Amino acid sequence: MRSTVKTSLLLAVLCGGCAEDQLPPILWETERAIIGSELDGFELCHDDFVMLDEHVALVEDMLGVERSSKFEVYFYDLDGLPCGVSPQGCYRREADQIHMATWEGLDHEIVHAVARDESFPSLFWEEGTADALRWVGTIGDGEGVLENATKTRPEDLDYLNARHFVRWVIETHGLESLRRIISGATEKEATGSSLEELAAMHRESVPYAYPALEPYVCPFDALPELEAGVWQEEFDLGCDERGATGVGGVGGVSVVRTIDLEPGRYRLLQQGGSFTALLGCQLTPNDAPLPEMFHGAAFNEAEMSRKAPPTYYPAEEEHILDVTRGGRIRVTVAGEAQGRFVGSVEFARIE
Ligand SMILES: [Zn+2]
Repeated sequence: MRSTVKTSLLLAVLCGGCAEDQLPPILWETERAIIGSELDGFELCHDDFVMLDEHVALVEDMLGVERSSKFEVYFYDLDGLPCGVSPQGCYRREADQIHMATWEGLDHEIVHAVARDESFPSLFWEEGTADALRWVGTIGDGEGVLENATKTRPEDLDYLNARHFVRWVIETHGLESLRRIISGATEKEATGSSLEELAAMHRESVPYAYPALEPYVCPFDALPELEAGVWQEEFDLGCDERGATGVGGVGGVSVVRTIDLEPGRYRLLQQGGSFTALLGCQLTPNDAPLPEMFHGAAFNEAEMSRKAPPTYYPAEEEHILDVTRGGRIRVTVAGEAQGRFVGSVEFARIE
């Protein structure tokens, strides 16, 4: 083990400016991206490519900029990641490449790559914008913006705070204001208010949590309700088919659905595959933090500073779910690590 660590450290040092020499092999190509990977067990499927391409288009549309060339994205094992501060990934401007150790965070780095030629006034605006345009919503108490806006090193920046502020600017002043700020206008020129005035308004009026941007508010098909209180669907799906994702489960083929549940007791059974994962969707802004394990049988995505994990229910076992607070739930039905996913999932209300 020791020699492995040494070797990778040495490579990291040697590779400070030479990541191009060590790039993982190209495995996939989409309309907007070229994707290489040496990440063990990592597989991307049809819907992941669609989501990636659609995200590029959405960010271009929101920021009013266009990329002419395809993205290069490379996935590495953690100890091969050629990034400085972030353990998850980074965008390297000089090479115009995104380097990732996980799928998580790719949405943020895509914003950097799209906006690479913009004139962000500060690290706060640049990282806040990259984070506000992610697939998840934003959260915060509205405090501390002015101090955070002076930070010049990524490791000192409060990302949650910056992204909640930028999202608030988008919601209250519109995208055009953000576009002008990232093109070099002052806050006053872009919004009519100074940063100090904006920070004060933000503190007064911002909700505790915004949901994801509209296209990302649990944008999945609903599980079919076969009869009152019984939802069921069967799957026979390959990775290259519509509906298949590789990043929701254990690699390989998974499917994501939603279900609207009222408070009550339900029976859950997945057959085939590996597990069902549940996570409540945030549909509207929240004024206050949610109680933990909001739905009883699952967290809501607005919990834990938006890092609430799904709750996992293994396949081939009956599970009884007590749903204490209803709402829309994201249902990830995880299939096999390799090959086709052939299986089914069923929810039935029993009380
Ligand atoms: Zn960033």
